[in-house]
Amino acid sequence: MTTTRFAPSPTGHLHVGNLRTALFNYLIARRESGKFILRIDDTDPQRSKPEYVDSIKRDMEWLGLYWDKIEYQSSRLERYAEIAKKLCEIGKFYECFESSIELDLKRKKQLNMGKPPVYDRSALALSETERGVLRKKTDGHWRFKLDQSRVDWTDQILGNLSIDAASVSDPVLIRGDGQVLYTLASICDDTDMGVTHVVRGSDHVTNTATQIQIIQSIGGNVPQFAHHSLLTGPKGDGLSKRLGSLALRDMREAGVQPMALLSHLAKLGSSDPVELRGSMAEIMSEFDLEKFGAAPTKFDKADLIPLTAKYLQGLSVSDVATDISNIGVPTEKAEGFWNVVRMNISSLNDLQMWWDLMEQGTDPQIEEQDREFVLEAIAMLPVQPFSSDTWSIWTKLVQEATGRKGKNLFMPLRRALTGMSHGPDMGALLPYLKNIKDRI
Ligand code: GLU
Repeated sequence: MTTTRFAPSPTGHLHVGNLRTALFNYLIARRESGKFILRIDDTDPQRSKPEYVDSIKRDMEWLGLYWDKIEYQSSRLERYAEIAKKLCEIGKFYECFESSIELDLKRKKQLNMGKPPVYDRSALALSETERGVLRKKTDGHWRFKLDQSRVDWTDQILGNLSIDAASVSDPVLIRGDGQVLYTLASICDDTDMGVTHVVRGSDHVTNTATQIQIIQSIGGNVPQFAHHSLLTGPKGDGLSKRLGSLALRDMREAGVQPMALLSHLAKLGSSDPVELRGSMAEIMSEFDLEKFGAAPTKFDKADLIPLTAKYLQGLSVSDVATDISNIGVPTEKAEGFWNVVRMNISSLNDLQMWWDLMEQGTDPQIEEQDREFVLEAIAMLPVQPFSSDTWSIWTKLVQEATGRKGKNLFMPLRRALTGMSHGPDMGALLPYLKNIKDRI
């Protein structure tokens, strides 16, 4: 069965870069009626926090990326110890004692001599007695002994890849303090959980060669790998430093709609144009890893604004009834209110601004040269209640009285009543504006 996993570390909130990975894995599993696992990579007890697990789940649920199973690496430590034992038994695992300072020095020396900074395996030459002595002084860490040959595989996005394992250091799988590191936990989970496809960021390409060797050494099935390009800022600048500002929860709070975000990320960096879609099923039917390229992908948060606006424009009042009632609009006014403002909001957060404008007014914008005209016009306002014809009846009267026409007539009135030069059709808006005479 097609099985994918999204494997965040709960050390922070999810951001758009994570979402790209999550969404691709989700779509692959769902398209094949397979299984989608949410795997929490929490083997680092210092940095992993339960509140981040909650935040990850909340974001995924908000976006409708429901998982079939959730797995916590912290509850599988015994299994990792078993695999470590197996690796020892087959002679693929060895204990090392170099401190990070020593390793650093070794790397610098190698680089000075023009050699790649690959671990020299000196720990392999230690005798059992020497190991015993070192163990008393320091806690050993454990490395996987790579087979120093080429590893070839076909990446579903990047095509044929080949990495010479001799150019890579034997990976540390268990730290001196006993902490199981990501590589061991991840290959063990992928194998045990029958993961068939691994989609992740291209920063993991080099890991893949070593992971393939480790999976093979424990007799697991090597999944299909696909590495998507990393996101950059709109000018091609690295996004990693700013990812904190692109947290999904912040986007949710800013009023970005899930469908806008999903439609955008399912297409960004592919050969298809980015267009709003109405459902996950539609997004899924168009999704294909082969449409994605290796080039870095530009992400601009601003692109989500028109997509969200377009999504909202297509909603009916019943879709937004709760949001409308939450800001205090009485039920009998909900439909009218929605019809007046729907084309003039870029997120549901804007609803409040329009309602406040209707109920309480706003700072009128009146140019000096229009002041007299505006006052004269306001004095001619028909008595309330207003209907949808009031605006045209009123402006006609004002036109006759003042001789103003077109933009010169309408714009100063719009600015005076709304404080803005743009907005909903004034004919539709006017009946909702309370106590106009008190506003000017
Ligand atoms: N926890 C790893 C990460 O967030 C998972 C990488 C993988 O998908 O293998 O980078």
